[in-house]
Amino acid sequence: MHPFTLERPRDLDGALALRAQSGRNDIAAEYIAGGTDMVQLLQENVRRPDRLVSIGPLMDKRIDVSSEGLRIGAGATMADAAAHPGVAGQFPVVAQALLESASPQVRNQATIGGNLLQRTRCPYFRDIGYSACNKRNPGSGCSAIRGANRWHAVLGGSDDCIAVHPSDLAVALVALDAVVHIQGSRGERSVALREFHRLPGSTPHIEAELRPAEVIAAITVPAHPAARRSHYLKVRDRASFEFAVVSAAVALEMQDDGRIRQARVAVGGVGTKPWRLANVETALAGSSLQRDALRKAAALAAQGAHGRGDNDFKIELMQRAIVRAAEAAGART
Ligand SMILES: Cc1cc2nc3c(=O)[nH]c(=O)nc-3n(C[C@H](O)[C@H](O)[C@H](O)COP(=O)(O)OP(=O)(O)OC[C@H]3O[C@@H](n4cnc5c(N)ncnc54)[C@H](O)[C@@H]3O)c2cc1C
Ligand code: SF4
Repeated sequence: MHPFTLERPRDLDGALALRAQSGRNDIAAEYIAGGTDMVQLLQENVRRPDRLVSIGPLMDKRIDVSSEGLRIGAGATMADAAAHPGVAGQFPVVAQALLESASPQVRNQATIGGNLLQRTRCPYFRDIGYSACNKRNPGSGCSAIRGANRWHAVLGGSDDCIAVHPSDLAVALVALDAVVHIQGSRGERSVALREFHRLPGSTPHIEAELRPAEVIAAITVPAHPAARRSHYLKVRDRASFEFAVVSAAVALEMQDDGRIRQARVAVGGVGTKPWRLANVETALAGSSLQRDALRKAAALAAQGAHGRGDNDFKIELMQRAIVRAAEAAGART
């Protein structure tokens, strides 16, 4: 492991100032919150900062549910957010995505801000024995495109990177139109979560719309009738402590006649960023909950999907996950 200095600033302004000193060079200094991802990356020599700036104790940990919606401070743990009665009752897709992530030990330590900024689980990114990884080492190539790519993306990939965004929470939040509130040394700003994560394009090492001297301060989710009738379905290789092979977050607003008035659909495990499916949502509007009708709408998820060999199966699996998540969401009262 590369030796580093752990900085424990007294307040957030101090943390932002420390990070600002290193400018765009995130090798010199990086933030650490719960540390559940960062420590692994340090141990594996994937990240080699000279300085770690501890922000976990400084971040807002409050969780509020009101008539306007949900607000979660970036320092809240995944466990606390999942256990909040307002989250579980009014935003079940968010609570489910959290409870199906990692393990109780990790969820007790990991923060909401860190979850959205965790790095990909692409095995070539995590193993420095592979020299070709554009995300870890820009310009070096991509080992996955012609390598073992069962875990990789079928949506949003480029010739330079096909790594999947690993967060379950982000998929649920994207479905619900969440907003990321950012605090920086120059003030505050807000970005729709849908726009927050970047497509890899030719710069896969730049993953989010966040400047160095900025932190995620909180996320908000606007109140919406569909939020309560929502479901997160995660398909994985083992029942716990495992990332998604494919996942689907579906939220439905129903009409009195039992048909869908409005749907929100996002998928995980398949995209280089949390992936919203507007074409599936449009097809679901006015549809019944009959499996054939759901299946017809879910088939549109395949538009633009591009398998690389080992991961071709995800294109069919994602459609089935959407159907099952929609059935489960529709069955909620
Ligand atoms: C064994 C294991 C299994 C897991 N399984 C899953 C899973 O199934 N699903 C899933 O979604 N996740 C899973 N995870 C990932 C886990 O959810 C993340 O490691 C965790 O959420 C990161 O939060 P943290 O506070 O520990 O972040 P850290 O490790 O401290 O930081 C992660 C990154 O975020 C940055 N950062 C942290 N907070 C902020 C902030 N407020 N503003 C700006 N930058 C910030 C850090 O600089 C760093 O780059 C798993 C992790 C482990 C170890
Ligand atoms: S998919 Fe992305 S993260 Fe994985 S090896 Fe290729 S460039 Fe690196």
